[in-house]
Amino acid sequence: MKRDYYDVLGVDRGADTGEVRKAFRQLARQFHPDVNPDDPEAEARFKELAEAYEVLSNDQSRAAYDRYGFEGLRGQPVPDFSQFGFADLFDVFFGGDPFGSVLRSATGGGAWGASAMAGSPRGEDVELGLEVDFVEAVFGATKEVTFTSDVTCEACQGSGAKPGTGRETCPQCHGSGRMREVSSLGGFGQFVRTSTCNVCRGQGTIVREPCTDCRGTGRMRAERSVQVELPAGIDHGQRLRLSGEGGAGGPGARPGDLYVLVVVRPDKLFRRDGDDLVYRLDLTMVDAALGLRTVVPALDGDIDLKLPAGSQPGDVKVFRNRGVPVLHGYGRGDLRVVLNVTVPRHLTDEQRELLRRFEETSTDENYKPDEGFLDKLRAAFRQ
Ligand SMILES: [Zn+2]
Ligand SMILES: [Zn+2]
Repeated sequence: MKRDYYDVLGVDRGADTGEVRKAFRQLARQFHPDVNPDDPEAEARFKELAEAYEVLSNDQSRAAYDRYGFEGLRGQPVPDFSQFGFADLFDVFFGGDPFGSVLRSATGGGAWGASAMAGSPRGEDVELGLEVDFVEAVFGATKEVTFTSDVTCEACQGSGAKPGTGRETCPQCHGSGRMREVSSLGGFGQFVRTSTCNVCRGQGTIVREPCTDCRGTGRMRAERSVQVELPAGIDHGQRLRLSGEGGAGGPGARPGDLYVLVVVRPDKLFRRDGDDLVYRLDLTMVDAALGLRTVVPALDGDIDLKLPAGSQPGDVKVFRNRGVPVLHGYGRGDLRVVLNVTVPRHLTDEQRELLRRFEETSTDENYKPDEGFLDKLRAAFRQ
């Protein structure tokens, strides 16, 4: 027993074509073959919906159905979907790719994506590399990037129509951007499908006199510059997305996005370890043994450093909050100063003699580790 087409779609008898289409799309997406693999009930339900939609979205068959019910449809182009595979049938109604986007927006909780059905192409995404100094990445900076992409045609303001003229409603699809096509399917009779209008390519409007500058596309290639705000704490290899800063879209369509891959030039003095900065302080064997006052050139101002007598290679001095600002967060990492004790080379005879005399006077006490040696060792291995 066939169900009433209006009941199937859940619309009342006065519903206009737009409401019928909306109801069909909303219901149909619940029965997408990817969502319901191998569910015979979903397939049957979808075919029922498709049939109801085909009849009610066609003025002629709908009038016949309204007057005489199912009886009235004899001799009308009513499709028989029973012969079609589920996935194929979906393709017929929605095309491959557009439905992909629509399904994503549907599962994402958004509205049925009207833009996914629009024919005007979204602008291209542009990806480029931006080389920056170490300090710029640590503290943030404003940089300018220059590249070639599609831009909105100035002459026609992106409409594609010759200046002084405008876009007109597409005579083929009357502005809907969609077309109904009737095709013969051999033994199955006729099959009616909707598809993107091939005159306006789904835009719903056409241009009588194209703009001569852009040949009707509304876009042209041009070099342009964009300011890029580097957030403090960004690191080598990270990517920034500047929404809408890519290439211009076709008439009425969104621009693409700009992706900036950050390439950080290495610094001569500092190395980064996440949010920490690492600085290697070279000092002589004698300075390490006797102790030393020195200055560490931190990125944001020098730091006085007093090293005690008996400082050891690999000792680490930690300066809290003198490292890299946390990206999109609060606070900063640390500056770690690692001691690198250098041993003299190319000694003169006199120096050799002095070191021998020193060695003769030294005892085990000179080389006894301090308390906390293990802590220092651990700190060193954080490198
Ligand atoms: Zn133009
Ligand atoms: Zn059209």
